[in-house]
Amino acid sequence: MNAYENKDPRLILRMTQKVLQSIFASIGIQKAESGGMLGGKDGTVTHYHFDKSSSTSAVTYSPDHMALNTLLKEEWNPAGIRLVGFAHSHPGKGCMPSAGDRFYAEKILNAIDDLDHLWLPIINTVADTREFILTPWFACKTEEGVVIRRGQVEIISSEKKTGPLETLQPDVPLDRITLGKKEPVETKTFDRVKDAYDLSRMYNTRIIAAGAGGAAEWLEQLARAGISQFVLIDPDFVSETNLATQQVYRKDIGRPKVDCIAERIRDINPQAYVIPLQKKLEDLEADQIEKLIAGNSQTILCGLTDNFFAQARINEIALNYGIPSLCAQVYKEGRGAEITFTYPGVTPACHRCILSSRYRYFLEEHNENDVTSHGTPIFATAQLNAVKGFLALAMIHHGSDHPRWGNTLKQIGNRNLIQLRLDPDFSDTMGLKVFDRVFEGADKTRLFFGEPVWLPQQQECLETGYPSCPDCGGTGDLRNAIGTLSDRNKTTINTEGKNNETVSESE
Ligand SMILES: [Zn+2]
Ligand SMILES: [Zn+2]
Repeated sequence: MNAYENKDPRLILRMTQKVLQSIFASIGIQKAESGGMLGGKDGTVTHYHFDKSSSTSAVTYSPDHMALNTLLKEEWNPAGIRLVGFAHSHPGKGCMPSAGDRFYAEKILNAIDDLDHLWLPIINTVADTREFILTPWFACKTEEGVVIRRGQVEIISSEKKTGPLETLQPDVPLDRITLGKKEPVETKTFDRVKDAYDLSRMYNTRIIAAGAGGAAEWLEQLARAGISQFVLIDPDFVSETNLATQQVYRKDIGRPKVDCIAERIRDINPQAYVIPLQKKLEDLEADQIEKLIAGNSQTILCGLTDNFFAQARINEIALNYGIPSLCAQVYKEGRGAEITFTYPGVTPACHRCILSSRYRYFLEEHNENDVTSHGTPIFATAQLNAVKGFLALAMIHHGSDHPRWGNTLKQIGNRNLIQLRLDPDFSDTMGLKVFDRVFEGADKTRLFFGEPVWLPQQQECLETGYPSCPDCGGTGDLRNAIGTLSDRNKTTINTEGKNNETVSESE
C-alpha cells in the first residue's frame, strides 16, 4: 500500500523562494514549451536547472536527458541533491500533465527504484498568458501502475528577511501559485486616459529606477499614466542647487530624493505601491535585486544615472532575468541626450553592444574626462523625459491589442539607440555627425533641432565585424542570455572617473 493512495492530506511540493524565482525568470517568461529539472534534499526543492538545450516544439517539452544525467551524477548526487521532478510549461491555460508527460514520468520512476513519486509542476507562462501559474502535479507508483495526482505547493521562507514586494505568504500550502496580473480599483483619476492606454497593463507594470535625480519628473508622469509599482533607488538628498535642474521643491531640501518622489507618486495615485531605497545600486546585493524583480510579470529596469557602472550592471541584470531595460543620460551642457533600451525578443543588441566603445573607455583606459552635468537646461532633461515616456508606453503595451500602442515597439524594432539633438549646431559642438547624415536630403530652408533619431543597432559578434559581446553573447536574441550572467557587483573595478559623462561614438 502506497502512502500516496491516500489523497488527504495531499502531498506537498516544498520549494525555496529562490527556486520559484528561477523558474519564473526562465520557464515563466518564455513561450511554452520549456522546462527544467528540480532537485532537493529532505523533501524540499533547493536546486533548479533550466534545461536550455531541451528539444521544444509548440506542443511538447522533452528533457535533454544526457545533459541532465551528467549534472545529476556529477554535481547534484555527490552533494546529496536528489532528483525531485521536472517543471515545464504548457501553452495557453493548459495545466494538466499530458499522456506523454505521464509516459516519461513512468520511465523515470521505473528506472529509479527508491523514487516513489516524481513532481511534474506545470507552468503557464507570462509570455503566453501574461500570468505565471504553477500547478503542482506529481506522478506516483501505485498497484495499478503510475498515475498522475494533484498536490499542493508551499514556498519555504529563508532565514533572510523577505523583501517588501513579496506577495506570497511563506510556509502555507497552496493549490497553485499565481503571480502577475491584478486589476486596479475603479477610480475617476484615469477617466480621461482610459482609452489612451491599457490601464490594466499600466497598473501591473513595475518600474525599478536606479537614479531619481533628472528622472524625478518622468517617474511622477508615469504615475499620472497609471503605473502603480515603483522601486526608487538613489542615495542622494535634495540640495538647493537641484532646484534649478530637477523637479524638486524648496520644502524638501535635505530630505532623501526617493522619499520625496514616493510621497508625490502616492499623492497622484494612492493605489500606487512605492518602495524608496535610499541607496546606491551597487549597495544592493544580487538576492535583494532578485526579490525586487520577483513576482511581477512586467518589470522595466531603468538606469537613470550618468554612472557608467550602474548602467553596466542594469544591462547584466536585465539580460540575466530576461526583462526589458531602459537607460538614459544627458550629454554635455544638455546639447544632446541619449536613450538605450533592450527588450528580449525584439532588440538584437544589448546596451553593451550599442555602447562598446564607451565600455572600452571605462573598463580598459580608465581615463578621466572633464564632462559634467553643469550647465544643463531643465528643458533638455524634460525633453529626454518625454521621449522616455513614449518609449515606456511602447514597451509596456508590446504584444497587446491596444489600437495605438500595441504595435509600436514592433515598429521601433532594432532601433534601440535614440539620440536627441537639442542644439542646432549639435554636429559641431558635440562632434557627432549622425544628424547631418540622417537629414542630408532635408529641405535646407528648414531648421531641425529638438528631434530624437531612433538608430538601428546590431548585436556585436563576428558576423557583424566585432568580437562577441561579453554580456549578451552577440547571438542576436537577448533571450539566449537568460540565466547566463551571475550578477557582478562592480564596486571592485577601478571606478575612477565613473561619475563623468562620455559621449557615444555609436550611431
Ligand atoms: Zn507537458
Ligand atoms: Zn550585447
